Amino acid sequence: MTGKTEGGQDVTDPAASGAGLRITDVIAHPLCQTLPTPTVTSWGAYTDVSICLVEVRTEAGITGVGEALARFSPRAYADVIETSLKPRLIGQDASAITALWQSMRRALSGRSGGMLFEAIAGVDIALWDILGKAANMPIHRLLGGMGRTHVPVYAASVNWGSDAAMEAELVRYLEAGFPRIKVKMANPVRDACRRIELLRRRAGDAVDLCVDANWAYTLEEAVEVGRALTANGYFWFEEPLRPEDEDGYVELRKRCDTPLAAGESNYTLDQAMRLVQSRTLAYLQPDVARAGGISETRRMAEFAAAHDVRYAPHIGMSGIVCEAASVQLAAAMPNVKAMECETDGSPFKCWITGAKPGIERQKNGLFEVPTGPGLGIEIDWDAVKRLRVQ
Ligand SMILES: [Mg+2]
Repeated sequence: MTGKTEGGQDVTDPAASGAGLRITDVIAHPLCQTLPTPTVTSWGAYTDVSICLVEVRTEAGITGVGEALARFSPRAYADVIETSLKPRLIGQDASAITALWQSMRRALSGRSGGMLFEAIAGVDIALWDILGKAANMPIHRLLGGMGRTHVPVYAASVNWGSDAAMEAELVRYLEAGFPRIKVKMANPVRDACRRIELLRRRAGDAVDLCVDANWAYTLEEAVEVGRALTANGYFWFEEPLRPEDEDGYVELRKRCDTPLAAGESNYTLDQAMRLVQSRTLAYLQPDVARAGGISETRRMAEFAAAHDVRYAPHIGMSGIVCEAASVQLAAAMPNVKAMECETDGSPFKCWITGAKPGIERQKNGLFEVPTGPGLGIEIDWDAVKRLRVQ
């Protein structure tokens, strides 16, 4: 239930849910840790990872957990959540998620993206977790569901490095049984083209390979790399150009036969709309911890489905909550292709839930969909306390 105040602001009716879901507290936990193995992309090596976990408490005693993508300065995210969003949430009905999302969006008037949307994402995921726990139902069933017990994943990623290092990493994923593997590509183009062929030869034709360039190329360079990808049967070419260069993507689509993938840099459906509507992208890859949470990511995935564009959740360099929310979405959306499986044991995946590294949890390129309520994960809050940035 929502109503309008005189100022036009939606307010929720906490009594309407009938489940004691009035929000009593919102706590943000900024976390930072060193990765067990650095992630190497066209931008260089990332040795640390940071996120911001969000805890939303209700008077019924149900607590939801969310995650905001916060690559740098996680304390700044905690500040946005606790000073700008929390006052709009306290006392409200946690089950009125759309109303609360709109209220948070209005708090950020004048901003069309950035850390503010990532902060909203953290709260939104926690609200869905609360709703699932209150209904004693996993989120993918609340979303309508596809009845899936498993979702397809791909190994992420073979890091950019020497020929030998990339080949060794590929072999590790092949031996782990992944049928789909992503490879990071960068400059120089000549090295990239040689490695694209080398890795295809090593993987054989039965394995699906795709490439992520993390904006490494100019249009002409991307056309050249695209030729190598097409010649070697790669199934997608991810973020070849910087995300703002929409005209470049439209032009590349005409000059590259390998399907294009992007979306992890988008914050809202509005920002993805043009490239989806024109079918420039074949795969849309929103990150649920960036793109406004489950609510906005669901809108993006469903819009993509309406245009025959596949949904491929991005979860790179995230924590277990982002992954769990992505599993729920992947289980519910009709157009899912595959989601990322971070192979190694990121502290934010393993330490705060006791989960094994992704490479051990997947089986034949599938993740099991949890059957428990909400996100289906249990957070070790003592571990969170230990990882907190002071
Ligand atoms: Mg990427």
